[in-house]
Amino acid sequence: MTKLQFKATQESLLGWYETDARNSLPWRKTSDIYHIYLSEIMLQQTQVSRVASEYYPKFLQKFPTLSALSKASLEEVFSLWSGLGYYRRAKNLHSTAQLCPEGLPDTPKDLLKLPGIGRYTASAICSFGYKQSVSVVDTNIARVLARFFAEKDAKEKELWSLADKFLNTKNPTEHNLALMDLGAMVCMPKNPDCDSCPLSKECLGKENPDLYYKKKSKVYVDKELHFGMCVKENSFATVKSQEGMYKDMLKLPSLEAHRYEDACLGDFKHSVTHFRLKVFVYLVDEVQEDVTWVNMQDIDTAPISSLTQKALKLYKESLV
Ligand code: SF4
Repeated sequence: MTKLQFKATQESLLGWYETDARNSLPWRKTSDIYHIYLSEIMLQQTQVSRVASEYYPKFLQKFPTLSALSKASLEEVFSLWSGLGYYRRAKNLHSTAQLCPEGLPDTPKDLLKLPGIGRYTASAICSFGYKQSVSVVDTNIARVLARFFAEKDAKEKELWSLADKFLNTKNPTEHNLALMDLGAMVCMPKNPDCDSCPLSKECLGKENPDLYYKKKSKVYVDKELHFGMCVKENSFATVKSQEGMYKDMLKLPSLEAHRYEDACLGDFKHSVTHFRLKVFVYLVDEVQEDVTWVNMQDIDTAPISSLTQKALKLYKESLV
């Protein structure tokens, strides 16, 4: 590809971005670094529409600044995160706010030192927030680049090099956002719409896009979990999780199943990360641990996971 063709392709991408991309997303309309950082953390593993319409505005209403977030308790942060899953993200967000209540650093090197910030998030903050001339590679951009340059089985390092090579240094922020949207809206994993793609003219992989994108198949682990439901005066007993992805959140006490078989209220399925869980809930009279009593009316604001909320729903259904 000649220099001229390269430049024309970058221009074509920007032209598409101005008219067809997702510019109305709330974090695209702000220059507040914290708000952009928050959106990036929420968007890891969660659908754009859910973040935009529900979680992002709700979180910012309660914690409009890093400083406000730094003063909150972890329980308050967890309760606002409830339903988003992957609670470690909420914990990292809270820790980061406490480390830098006055503002986030402005270099990838310093951002990478903060909890939960990897290469992608650091670059995204520098590109979308600080408007620096840095490339960004997420799964959408990686797919577009691999196809555009016809790079089969490209490793992460190679994809970042391709992103650097393709970066439009005159409009780096819009260029990165455009590539990201192109991957989400046009160069999709299945059936990319090459006919309406602004990169189509020079794309080396358009004859066989599937060749340059292979979805990693997920390996699932099946597991059974057993929890006790101890209820007194409209409150239920919880204990603090000591480890794993729900660390520091409240959960129902774990049980040894065989001792409580007769008191089983039922079971439900729940998927989280690579685990496919079958969760059993038992009615118990007492719990042998230090417990925190949570009122049934507070289940939407208590720092409990969606798994625990499902267990409560099962308990309530058993009363009918
Ligand atoms: S032309 Fe097709 S394969 Fe190439 S970047 Fe566009 S949508 Fe993807």
